[in-house]
Amino acid sequence: MSAPINTTVRELLDYFGQCGACGYPASASLLTQHFPDGSTHHEVVATCGLPCGWRAPVSMRRMTGSP
Ligand SMILES: [Zn+2]
Repeated sequence: MSAPINTTVRELLDYFGQCGACGYPASASLLTQHFPDGSTHHEVVATCGLPCGWRAPVSMRRMTGSP
């Protein structure tokens, strides 16, 4: 597996998760990695709004359509 040649980051404004360490509302960013063969890989990483240092990959989960 080759290393990505480019990585773009876009902040997700519709993420409403919480920090896994302190419970403070977290923000999330969509990381898109571009590989030399033209394929892309998407990953969502949540980051705590406080400087506690917590960040973790999360599944692409949106609030639209929930009851
Ligand atoms: Zn936190």
